[in-house]
Amino acid sequence: MKLIIHRGAHEVGGSCVELSFKGSTILLDVGLPLSHNYDDGIDSSVPQPLFQDLRQGVKKVDAVILSHAHLDHYGLAGVLPQGIPVFCGEASVELMALSKEVSPRGIPMFKSEAFRDRETFQVGDLLVTPYLMDHSAFDSYGFLVSAGGKSLFYTGDFRGHGRKSRLFALLLKDPPKVDVLLMEGTLFGERSEERVISEYELEKKFVKLIEESSGIVLATTGSQNIDRLVTIFKAAKQTKRMLIIDFYTAEVLERLKKYARLPQASWPRIKVCYPQRIADRFERIGLKDILSRHRKNGISWRRLKEIEGRVVMLIRAGFLWDLKTFLDLKGGTWIYSMWHGYFDQSESLRNLRKYFKEKDVRIEELHTSGHATVSQLIGLANALSPKMIIPIHTFHPEKSKDHFSNVRLVDNGEELDI
Ligand SMILES: [Zn+2]
Repeated sequence: MKLIIHRGAHEVGGSCVELSFKGSTILLDVGLPLSHNYDDGIDSSVPQPLFQDLRQGVKKVDAVILSHAHLDHYGLAGVLPQGIPVFCGEASVELMALSKEVSPRGIPMFKSEAFRDRETFQVGDLLVTPYLMDHSAFDSYGFLVSAGGKSLFYTGDFRGHGRKSRLFALLLKDPPKVDVLLMEGTLFGERSEERVISEYELEKKFVKLIEESSGIVLATTGSQNIDRLVTIFKAAKQTKRMLIIDFYTAEVLERLKKYARLPQASWPRIKVCYPQRIADRFERIGLKDILSRHRKNGISWRRLKEIEGRVVMLIRAGFLWDLKTFLDLKGGTWIYSMWHGYFDQSESLRNLRKYFKEKDVRIEELHTSGHATVSQLIGLANALSPKMIIPIHTFHPEKSKDHFSNVRLVDNGEELDI
């Protein structure tokens, strides 16, 4: 088997890995790099010379296999030459489609076929088995790829401290036999490692902050970060507060309900709010059906103001106008539950924070990484006991040598025979 990392050998995001055997070739992930500038057009961020070779027909790929619905792993699948089959998890298909519906001018979309957890499929001479993993994205997979008597396990993104940690434990208990482990190392060399706690510990911290708040509790996280939504839902339930979600989050949860038991807008103690600017945008781009679908579980801003001290409300930067116009926020708390670095990237997020400071809203950050700690990486490597470990999805691949004796650093574009 031949391996080429087209991107990801020394960066987080934009991963793209080629595996081939005899005449068969697959790509694992075709991600948009985190450094991508949307003003420059998507073609400025495709990994080269791979895309040029594909477009000129110099190279042929039989399938593209996507690990999960984070843009830094699937964002370039829509600009691949037509006709290459794309595979991903069933729920990921839904999440990617919904992201495209709500931002039609975003990245180009593509057709995909779904695989299933632990069901091996064949692409020419290569056998691929998906392994559902614990990660901050719902429906994330690692892949066991075998050909010619050799095997490689690509972890995708994963962790062992999320709400699906049993998947990590299961993998450690019953690991596949592998020659090569191609392992994410996002937290290599990151000081944030020390602050990595489990979603369950995070839930307790949410409970504590909610209990300390006399006014409304506002929480900000990604609408597709299902683990975190569940953490916040559980904390609201324990503190006997109503959870307010917006119609988009309600839609995400509804679309995923056939894959897991997730909180739904129709449940008691959950209500749906309609931030005006976001609702206007949905109407403009023709998504009236999403708006109307959740009206029956809606709550008015007037009613919300009356019960501020008894709710936990999920908000995003786009809610600022509604918060200013309709709510009091007295004695309130804002819990920011995402990566801190977004403050540098988003002016609207900074504006939101500025407004809360003006209103004397207590501001707290509660977050934990979507990625494996070094001790979890060691645990996985011990269980799989590969002959060779190749780090990927890390800014510090060389740090892996501090923890493993059988590391092979591979540069972007370098060909390696397995
Ligand atoms: Zn990810």
